[in-house]
Amino acid sequence: MEVQAIRGFNDVLPEEIGRWQFVEKTARKVFEGFGFSEIRIPILERTELFSRGIGEATDIVEKEMYTFTDRSGNSLTLRPEATASMARAYLEHQLYNFDSMAKLYCIGPMFRYERPQKGRYRQFYQVDAEVFGVENPMVDAELIAMLIHFLKSVGLERLELQLNTLGDRACRPKYREGLKKYLEGKVSQLCEDCRRRLESNPLRILDCKVETCKQAIADAPKVTDFICSECQNHFDRVKEYLEAAGLSYVLNPRMVRGLDYYTRTAFEVVSYQLGSQNAVAGGGRYDNLFQEIGGKEIPGIGFAIGMERLISLLPEGGEFVKHPDLFVAALGEASFKEAYRIVNQLHLEGIRAELDYEGKSLKSQMRRADKLKSRYTLILGQEELNRGKALLRNMGTKSQEEIPMGDGFLNQLKDKISTID
Ligand SMILES: [Zn+2]
Ligand SMILES: [Zn+2]
Repeated sequence: MEVQAIRGFNDVLPEEIGRWQFVEKTARKVFEGFGFSEIRIPILERTELFSRGIGEATDIVEKEMYTFTDRSGNSLTLRPEATASMARAYLEHQLYNFDSMAKLYCIGPMFRYERPQKGRYRQFYQVDAEVFGVENPMVDAELIAMLIHFLKSVGLERLELQLNTLGDRACRPKYREGLKKYLEGKVSQLCEDCRRRLESNPLRILDCKVETCKQAIADAPKVTDFICSECQNHFDRVKEYLEAAGLSYVLNPRMVRGLDYYTRTAFEVVSYQLGSQNAVAGGGRYDNLFQEIGGKEIPGIGFAIGMERLISLLPEGGEFVKHPDLFVAALGEASFKEAYRIVNQLHLEGIRAELDYEGKSLKSQMRRADKLKSRYTLILGQEELNRGKALLRNMGTKSQEEIPMGDGFLNQLKDKISTID
């Protein structure tokens, strides 16, 4: 029996990879232009990093982590998100000693044991960006501006920035109490999960998808009714800076984000492309995360973009699949040797060239050149070799011309195949 991939774990095939590479390349270009540096973090971490960093009472930690014991008895977890690991790396390598502000990004796979469904996978990819060390609301606006600029750069349109504040350690407990008191009067409408959340994490009830829960929270108190003046001031300044950057937003007081560690600014970007509503990215400020994992008070803010969803929303068209620049069709031993020499030389110069390795007829080599959508074919039969001339065929226009072999042949060939298109 054929061995197959695990459910929820996908292959990205060569025909799709062009889109992935385009997104990654654009992310690197945009982020580095905003002063960010890439960081690569391990895929496996100690389980406690996530249980402490993300919070015990979150869906991720409660039921979605890939956790196992290794041969030495350590509890390890495949990273379900990148922020906690990036924060750990920042502390472990004391990056704050170099500069109090660190702007970092990371691209790679995350793992969550969720029910696989369309667009939701157990191994999924995220683009993450984080700023550590600065509390200034200007940073919140700058990070959001970078996110929007990136999404527009890959071709997304009809984007909506949704904004909320979640308060901080001073005021969130009051909101939590107020919300809890309100929802205790609605217990009969709450789903089983939310009844449990009422004790452990009542804010999470705000983003429950169950219909009766949605009704129960319809008139629930809003966080903005409870926040302290410092949080209000931070929020007002984030809005001012967003306006200064020319960005519009809508306030969404129900947005709580899935993770426990968020404080103050929370945001999501929703795309209305393709006639439906899709959250493509989200993030927020987390001024308590570092405390949970390392005992230091370091502010942070970041976002994550789901790659699979982003790629599914990319505009159609665009040339993402790579085709050969040249296919060398040869016939006879002497021709193949010459063809090999040419192709090798082109490869050394980064020109995508192909030839036949199976001793097929000239006709079937031409068919393969066609199938591979090669831009040009160089025909090098015994006859051409005898006459000292190779035949170059433009596969698009079907025009042909002869190139004399010998001195200057390769340069002429390169000139011809690089001029048009
Ligand atoms: Zn619920
Ligand atoms: Zn506050």
